Amino acid sequence: MDTWLIAVLVITGAVVLYLRRWWYASVRPTVNISSFPRKYPDEKGVSRPHYDVVCVGAGPAGATLGFYMSKMGRKILLLEKATFPRDKICGDALCKTGIEIIHEMGVYEELKKENKMNIADSGGMVSPGGLSYIGRSKEILGEIPGAIAIKRINLDEKLARACQKAGAELRENHAVKTATFDKSKGLWTISLENSDETFTCRVLVCADGAPSKLAIQLGLVKQPPQTSCSRCYIEGGTHKFKADGVLFYNRELLPGYSCLFRHANDEANFCIYLIPGNPDATAETLAFWHEKMMKEDPNISRALGNNIKTERMKAAALRIGGEETTFADHVLVIGDAAGFTDPMTGEGIHTAMDSARMAANVLDEALKAGNFDAPIMEEYQNRWLNAWGTDFYWSMVMIQMCYKYPILMDAAVAAMIRKGDRFLARWADIMTGRVTKFNLLYPDFVIVITYELIVLIIKRLLGIKVGDRGSAAKGLVDDKKKQ
Ligand SMILES: Cc1cc2nc3c(=O)[nH]c(=O)nc-3n(C[C@H](O)[C@H](O)[C@H](O)COP(=O)(O)OP(=O)(O)OC[C@H]3O[C@@H](n4cnc5c(N)ncnc54)[C@H](O)[C@@H]3O)c2cc1C
Repeated sequence: MDTWLIAVLVITGAVVLYLRRWWYASVRPTVNISSFPRKYPDEKGVSRPHYDVVCVGAGPAGATLGFYMSKMGRKILLLEKATFPRDKICGDALCKTGIEIIHEMGVYEELKKENKMNIADSGGMVSPGGLSYIGRSKEILGEIPGAIAIKRINLDEKLARACQKAGAELRENHAVKTATFDKSKGLWTISLENSDETFTCRVLVCADGAPSKLAIQLGLVKQPPQTSCSRCYIEGGTHKFKADGVLFYNRELLPGYSCLFRHANDEANFCIYLIPGNPDATAETLAFWHEKMMKEDPNISRALGNNIKTERMKAAALRIGGEETTFADHVLVIGDAAGFTDPMTGEGIHTAMDSARMAANVLDEALKAGNFDAPIMEEYQNRWLNAWGTDFYWSMVMIQMCYKYPILMDAAVAAMIRKGDRFLARWADIMTGRVTKFNLLYPDFVIVITYELIVLIIKRLLGIKVGDRGSAAKGLVDDKKKQ
């Protein structure tokens, strides 16, 4: 097919997708749930065999839903195939919105007391051209940090226990097989893989992670996860990484990137995020890139040093950008199962938790109104699209632009170098969805980055070297650290 025709189709598709999201997010009137005709009584506090909600999966999304629904006095059951504590392949970086939620759940203080989390104070990024900025954020951000490093084996158990403490029923080692809906009764029946036991509920919530098997089985989610990422832990005391969290944008890996986060016990977590778009960096080549970046990226290899003790690389799927349909009659899809991972950063714990909080609010209203028809359930989709859904679209556009023109990322880091920690903190707010990507078009961003872009272009035209891929970024490596 003619290249122009493909370009026109792609652009038209993107515009249609964006307009659809814009319609949902900005124009479409919000649903007044209480105005719908009642179909079922509000059964709050009434003894009955069925649950208000059964949630499949008790990761951050499921556990957060369980916590809030229980606080609202609702009868919720979480079915989880694993037994806590269980590991989850992840970069272990929890962003601000998630930190606020774990505060509310009482988990933050517990993790702090037990010295299980590391508040990311020193952090930053290395650009494709080798420019780097590692700053500090504690003084600027105050009480609630921008990010913490917390091992998922610890975080997810704490979240699950907090949701139980709030009153939710959690059944571990309960893998769900199927769910069938009886329209006449308005009830789901959920069956298990290894048992004949069944459970009934008014609303089914799919929170079973990126593979999203249940929502695919129900015909709500249509596609497999788009990409995958790697992780390996590096034993504390065997590496030289000094900062708390750094993102490394290597030109070869774009639009993907690598990152290092340091835990409270000095263990480091190294991840590769493969973002779709680069034909040379696909899921099949993940192990190759993981190895290559650790050994050959000058900043990463210096931060790791020569004597690291590292676990074998592990990989997991990533579903990005938000699914088109996350609701139906008596059903919601939340967290990774709904693809709530930002296409620019690969981060999704905080959006998983935020989506669960939104789902809990909508479900509480629906339970009060006694109606769970699709137009009511759709209000959940309106809310997440309104909060950060449209932003996912811009994330994808922006990261693909950076893949095509890596100098844009160099200019952003040059702006950080010029403007310092406040600029870095604002950048982090945009990257972690605290404020929309639209903020990048505000004068304080666009003027500074455009200025740096022009300077970089002139320097390159004049053959002046910018950035230094040969020496380690300032603040990255602790040379005194014994290995
Ligand atoms: C390598 C990698 C690095 C990442 N790094 C970061 C990061 O640094 N920061 C960040 O914010 N995000 C990161 N993410 C994304 C993050 O891991 C997810 O967004 C987050 O785990 C979503 O939580 P969830 O509860 O939706 O899904 P999950 O955490 O996947 O939980 C789903 C749960 O459902 C259970 N389940 C599945 N099937 C069934 C079944 N049939 N029956 C019962 N239970 C079932 C699973 O056992 C699991 O406990 C990363 C992802 C990857 C792959």
